[in-house]
Amino acid sequence: MAFKENPSVYLVTKPAINWPQIANFFEEENVPPIPDSVRAGDDESAAVIEISARMCYMSYGRGRRDITDFINNLLSSKDGSVFEHVNYGLIVTGVSRSLTHELVRHRAGFAYSQRSQRYVDETEGTFVIPPALSSERDFTKEARKVLDDALVHASESYTELVTALEKSLPKSIFDSNTDRRKAIRQAARSVLPNATETKIFITANVRALRHFIELRGASFADWEIRFLAIEILKLLQVEAPLLFGDFLIEDLEDGTQITYPKYSKV
Ligand SMILES: Cc1cc2nc3c(=O)[nH]c(=O)nc-3n(C[C@H](O)[C@H](O)[C@H](O)COP(=O)(O)OP(=O)(O)OC[C@H]3O[C@@H](n4cnc5c(N)ncnc54)[C@H](O)[C@@H]3O)c2cc1C
Repeated sequence: MAFKENPSVYLVTKPAINWPQIANFFEEENVPPIPDSVRAGDDESAAVIEISARMCYMSYGRGRRDITDFINNLLSSKDGSVFEHVNYGLIVTGVSRSLTHELVRHRAGFAYSQRSQRYVDETEGTFVIPPALSSERDFTKEARKVLDDALVHASESYTELVTALEKSLPKSIFDSNTDRRKAIRQAARSVLPNATETKIFITANVRALRHFIELRGASFADWEIRFLAIEILKLLQVEAPLLFGDFLIEDLEDGTQITYPKYSKV
């Protein structure tokens, strides 16, 4: 049994443009060739949005020359659909089941694959400590003791349940060992708490990610998911500064951070 206090976030997929095919398209359509037609240069995330947005008016080589100005104009005029062409894949570990229960409420533009508690044994499980009870917050150490005891107890109960079901569930009623193992774990997991650690693969488009970060990075969001939203934002601000650069991050007196965008829900 182990405890985790912070998530790990890995940016694992990002957009890639097939430039020779884009060049063929421009040639066929008799519009100015690259680079005149695409102001984003080698910023591929911005280029996907620029190429798709300019498709609407076939305005390659015309209009706003500055890509920052171009993207901000789309954001401010809420031309949100073109931001759906850019997707990122993230692997997130070290988060609680309560966090992912909130996360998967974000439906539009999100895809999820989460570690299964029916297939994966939780006997050596890890638990995620809520930020209010983290070891940095010395003043909550009495409350932390209550949590630690409860988690130890839950973990022991899980192991006892698995052992008891292994002894009592007849093999004859299952088609395979895998089915029987699943039946045991799916029953035993009922004693696992919200703090149980999980791992999730998230793919989401920029429009959806901006909405998620805006809602979950706000002061009224739970501290754990707010921390995750801001970690994701920080990665994306490096990866795609033009698409996430309008979000500001502020420190609060309680030691947490919040974030809010200049361009709300596009
Ligand atoms: C601080 C906070 C507290 C919360 N507390 C609770 C709670 O107590 N109980 C609870 O159940 N939930 C709660 N939620 C979850 C919340 O209600 C949303 O389910 C969640 O934030 C996802 O937001 P969304 O629906 O906008 O996102 P998405 O599902 O990703 O949708 C994005 C946008 O697409 C549009 N859209 C999506 N689906 C539809 C549709 N079917 N019809 C029309 N338009 C659609 C909407 O414009 C929507 O904003 C809370 C959320 C936050 C941030």
